[in-house]
Order: sequence, then structure tokens, then C-alpha cells
Amino acid sequence: MSQALIIGGGPAGLMAADVLSQAAHDVTICDAMPSIGRKFLMAGKSGLNLTKDEPLDAFIARFGTIHPTLEAALRGFSPVEVMAWAEDLEQAIFTGSTGRVFPKAMKASPLLRAWLKRLRAANVTFNPRWRWTGFDGAASQFDTPDGLQTISPDVTVLAMGGASWAKLGSTGAWTAQFDSVAPFKPANMGFQVAWSDHMMPFFGQPVKATALYAGRRSSRGEWVISRNGIEGGGVYDLSAAVRDGAILHVDLFPDLTADAVLARAKKRRSKQSFSQFIKKSLRLSPIKAALFQEFTRDLDLSDAVRIAELLKSLPVPVSEPMPMDGAISTAGGLRIGALDTRFMVKDTPGVFAAGEMLDWEAPTGGYLINGCLATGYAAGHGALAWLSTSR
Ligand SMILES: Cc1cc2nc3c(=O)[nH]c(=O)nc-3n(C[C@H](O)[C@H](O)[C@H](O)COP(=O)(O)OP(=O)(O)OC[C@H]3O[C@@H](n4cnc5c(N)ncnc54)[C@H](O)[C@@H]3O)c2cc1C
Repeated sequence: MSQALIIGGGPAGLMAADVLSQAAHDVTICDAMPSIGRKFLMAGKSGLNLTKDEPLDAFIARFGTIHPTLEAALRGFSPVEVMAWAEDLEQAIFTGSTGRVFPKAMKASPLLRAWLKRLRAANVTFNPRWRWTGFDGAASQFDTPDGLQTISPDVTVLAMGGASWAKLGSTGAWTAQFDSVAPFKPANMGFQVAWSDHMMPFFGQPVKATALYAGRRSSRGEWVISRNGIEGGGVYDLSAAVRDGAILHVDLFPDLTADAVLARAKKRRSKQSFSQFIKKSLRLSPIKAALFQEFTRDLDLSDAVRIAELLKSLPVPVSEPMPMDGAISTAGGLRIGALDTRFMVKDTPGVFAAGEMLDWEAPTGGYLINGCLATGYAAGHGALAWLSTSR
């Protein structure tokens, strides 16, 4: 039996611990927080989206252009395996109309409880409030309530997460210990918009039945007008493209053809006020009418053709992304090129890495947790293989 150390008790670290403990190794999980899986529990607050039930190639395509090592991990622990894993933990799951897979309980707590029970039954040791501060040779050092502690394991899996929601544990402070790190960027986040006062009545309201576009991506998801900008699934879907420079546009009539919208725009009568025209002729809902007026404030709207064009493709003047700490996830982290094909850090034999601390990104919709479980599974198996050959 070998000693395996897992640093970080999120889904990636727990999966690596599962693999190693089921192979009868002596596993210890250290986490900086007073309890395990805090971000995982937060992810379940509005429905824990575990994966997406769709053809594997389409699933993998949502991770963008990825390193072959990450692709192999996703193929090795794909949506099919994620669903089987949840059911193996006796968590009933269901697939929504868009293919998103959730536990029937929706929350993460029953699944986490069942998972921790299985790990405890396999004699996994949990060390909460143990903050990793770095390596001392092959050993790991921790700040703990009892002062500095050192563990010298046979194998280590790092799974310390990305750099958002620091209050849940993932501070990104671990990057100081590595050279090969891509800077963190917010992912799946909202954007700031300098709203005029007339948008105040709409703060907190959802915008439904639109299509958002940025670069080559589009989204029919709902989004929300917040005090400082725009948030929500529809925006998160396109947030990487907008963050990287694409212009965001909204189609206010995604179910009407351009000709049908033009026909409405031509219905303006000479004595009609602009707001009557928007309401009666264009038939925009109050929130869409407010957005149209907000974003066309300085434009000449005397021409029906121009109005119709804007209704179908209205530029949304976003400024900065919302602050990274509030982002659902982060891009950047330990470069996958710094790992070998088993997820071992090339210049630190016996040390593996997994989860959001690695440099990949994906949209919301179950891709993130599936990516963390898949890399945790791959790192766990990489560690097993290394243990079997290194002694
Ligand atoms: C509001 C919200 C909703 C979300 N909803 C979904 C969803 O429905 N579906 C989905 O796929 N994804 C969702 N996500 C994203 C998902 O939760 C994360 O991608 C996932 O939890 C990352 O897993 P991880 O194991 O890599 O890292 P984390 O879950 O962040 O875990 C890392 C762990 O490492 C510990 N740690 C960090 N530094 C140290 C250190 N120095 N020493 C010791 N321990 C340390 C932390 O305390 C933490 O417990 C959501 C995220 C948020 C914020």
C-alpha cells in the first residue's frame, strides 16, 4: 500500500482520491477550508449541472481547441461515465430538454454526502484547514491549526481549483509555486454596461426570447439585466469570445425573418410618437423596448431599413468583464503542456494535477464539472500507473 496525498477537496481532487482509494492505497485529502467541496456545493445551489448528454465529439468541441492530453481525459471519462458515476453513488439523475444532466435532487449535498461516505469507507483521511504552502523536496508543507505540518507521500495529486469565489477556497495562490502558468482570466462571467437611469426599473429582470451573437458563437439562453451590466447563461455562453475581443450583438426578434421585421419597421405612421411606434408597430416587450432605446440613444432612427437592421443585430456596448472573483470559472492555470500524458507535472516526478487549476476553459452546462471529474480520474489513474512502475 502506498501513501497518496490529494491537495484540494473539490470534484477533481475527490475523483482522484476515489480512484486511488478504490485501488487500496492509503489516501489523505488536505483542504484549506474547514469543510470539503464548498464550490461544488455552491454549484448545486441553482441546480447541479453534472454534464451534457450529447454526442461525444460535439461535447468535446465545446472545450475549444484543446491539448490532446485533455481530449484523451474527456474521452476516458465522458458524459456517459459521469452519468454512470452519479448513479453508482445512488443519485438518480435526469436529462433536461436541452441535454443538461442533473441529479434529481438538484442540489449537490446528497451526492457529496454519498461520495464522502464511500471515501470514508475506503479509509480516506480528511485534513480540513490544511493550507498547502509549497514543496520541500518531494514533501508538501501545510499551514494548519497546529502550525506547520509536512507530509512526504509516495504520490501527490494537486487539485486546488481556479481563481474565482475565493471565499469558497479557490484563491489561485498556488500559482506562485509553478513556472508554467498561464495568467488567470474570468470565464463564464457577465460584463459591465453603463446603464442610464431609465434602465433602473429593469434591474434584476430576465431578458427572454432573444439571440445573442459574438464572433462565430450564438446563444438563445436567457440573460439578466443587473445594476452594473449583464449576466446569466446566455451571456456566459459567449463570454470567452467577448472577453477576447468579439463584439456582442443581440437579435431582439430571433424568431422573425429580417423581411418580417422590416415590414413592422415600415409601419410607422407620421403622427405616431417613437414610443408608440415601438410598442404598437414593432410590438417589442417593455424590456426589449427599453434595451432598444438604451442602445440606440445616439443613433439616427429615421430610416426603417436601419431600424430593422438594428432590431436584428443591435450592438451591446459592454465594457469590462465583471470582476474575476465573481466568475463561474476561470481560464488560465497550470499549462497542460507542463504535464505528461498521465497528468504528471513533467519536472516534478510523482506530482500530478487535475481540475480547474489546469489551463482549459469550457462553457457552463455541465462541461466544467465533467472536465474536473475527467481530469481527476485521469490524474488518479496516472498516479496509480506511476506507483506501479516507480518502485
Ligand atoms: C456559482 C457557481 C455555479 C456553478 N455551477 C456549475 C454547474 O452547474 N455545472 C458545472 O459543471 N460547473 C459549475 N460550476 C463550476 C464548478 O463548480 C467548478 O468548475 C469546479 O468546482 C472546479 O472543481 P475543482 O475540483 O477543480 O476545484 P474546486 O471545486 O475549486 O476545489 C478546489 C479545492 O482546493 C482547495 N484549495 C485551494 N487552494 C488550496 C491550498 N493552498 N491548500 C489546500 N487546499 C486548497 C479549495 O479550498 C477547494 O476546496 C459552478 C461554479 C460556481 C461558482
